[in-house]
Amino acid sequence: MSEADLPRINSNMNEFRIINLEQVSKHVNDVTLHASLCEEAKNLAAKGDPPVKLLGEVQQQGMASFLHSTCQGHGKVFSFCTSHRVSTKHGDRFEVNIRAVWAQMSTGGGCNKLNEVTATLGMPGLHQRTFSKLENEIGHWWTEVLRKEMIAAGIEERRLAEEAGDYHQGVPFITVVKGKSQTQLQCSRWGRDSCCRSY
Ligand SMILES: [Zn+2]
Repeated sequence: MSEADLPRINSNMNEFRIINLEQVSKHVNDVTLHASLCEEAKNLAAKGDPPVKLLGEVQQQGMASFLHSTCQGHGKVFSFCTSHRVSTKHGDRFEVNIRAVWAQMSTGGGCNKLNEVTATLGMPGLHQRTFSKLENEIGHWWTEVLRKEMIAAGIEERRLAEEAGDYHQGVPFITVVKGKSQTQLQCSRWGRDSCCRSY
């Protein structure tokens, strides 16, 4: 396959991408190692011609890009992706896309806001469908983390109440300062979960 036959969707080098440094470092290692051993590449370098050329993008997955470069000596193709993949229970996701959606959720933005930013930066954005799917998954992660933190906090509160000897009718309680008043929270279901009721 000649260089002209290689698939590509974009050879415009005057654009911007978010590139994971570890990924690009590995790619540079691969091409420089090849160029230092390939006789054809060494001949080109001796004449002052670049032995490896970046051709452009062959695929985009949201904000993640797949790029191709070739040895100009004998046409060996090197490809790399600008983002790591992250395995989730719903399948593999590109880390850059997860981070982009996470950032919008954290700051109160959304898909349109993200795409306004990426368009201004000269970068690809995310389709609404992809954004919504990731937003839903991240929402579940946050809910799960919150649930675990609430259980951990409940266990700690029980420990503190027992340590202080604070019991009401045999059930440990903590005192919650709420404005100028104080409210006792009785933890009525210790041993089953961290559910508390106030009175
Ligand atoms: Zn070569």
